[in-house]
Amino acid sequence: MHAASAFTLSGRDLLGIEGLIASEITGLLDLAEEFVELNRQVEKKRTTLRGRTQINLFFEASTRTQSSFEIAGKRLGADVMNMSVGSSSVKKGETLVDTAITLNAMHPDILVVRHHASGAVALLARKVDCCVVNAGDGAHEHPTQALLDALTIRRNKGRIQGLTVAICGDVLHSRVARSNIILLHTLGAKVRVVAPSTLLPSGIESLGVEVFRTMEAGLDGADIVMMLRLQRERMAGSFIPSVKEYFHYFGLDEAKLRRAAPDALVMHPGPMNRGVEIDSAVADGPRSLIREQVEMGVAVRMAVLDTLARKLPNA
Ligand code: ASP
Repeated sequence: MHAASAFTLSGRDLLGIEGLIASEITGLLDLAEEFVELNRQVEKKRTTLRGRTQINLFFEASTRTQSSFEIAGKRLGADVMNMSVGSSSVKKGETLVDTAITLNAMHPDILVVRHHASGAVALLARKVDCCVVNAGDGAHEHPTQALLDALTIRRNKGRIQGLTVAICGDVLHSRVARSNIILLHTLGAKVRVVAPSTLLPSGIESLGVEVFRTMEAGLDGADIVMMLRLQRERMAGSFIPSVKEYFHYFGLDEAKLRRAAPDALVMHPGPMNRGVEIDSAVADGPRSLIREQVEMGVAVRMAVLDTLARKLPNA
């Protein structure tokens, strides 16, 4: 069925964007395009994952990512089980590795894992026989978010190469920012980060980004303005003087957006804090791609699951 059906990734798992080469990224995006079309049909089912078991193991709460992976797996014909930490033995003191070994004994084919600690998903992947997809680990990586963002950009701008993308806000706590920086560089975009000093990781310049500490300068001429959620649940201590002040200086509103290119588009990975990092008029306005990002999320996750499944035993 797929034009891109011969395509595979070099690894068994998708743990991050780091390590993927440009042709692997574009291969996933091309395949995802086919699933965008499929998802707009009445009949959305494929049988690529028929007989396969996919477990979504979420140690951290999630609405959109978990439901997106669930829909993606089901549309490809997998049996999908959702397991969240609240209902698991982790609450009773079981270690991550024991959880992995227990689940492995049930012979899943694909584990989709989210964890609050950076590196936890890679650790778990070493203990299991199935393929593992990182659905977000701490402030490290969120590869399917970066892929869906890239697909959204490519569909709207026709390219990624040469675009200027400004990633704004809580870069310090953001796995979305990290995965996006790596992916956008790999595909030839120029990446800026825009944030107060307290929300910038030290040494961020080493990732090859241009750093700005005001929205006015950082947005100047940008093609894409990507806002990040202020991750207050990850903040131990005080990173901003007040939410009101943060919005005044770093919240995206119509006035600040006027600094960007005339045809600039606005993105946000969700969930949004309206009136904190983004004004509702912009979030719901004509330049916003936020709803389209959610649609692309399902297609990209189908592409990832489909591709990884090609390397499963007996595929
Ligand atoms: N949903 C994204 C993540 O899991 C972004 C966010 O939570 O702000 O990282």
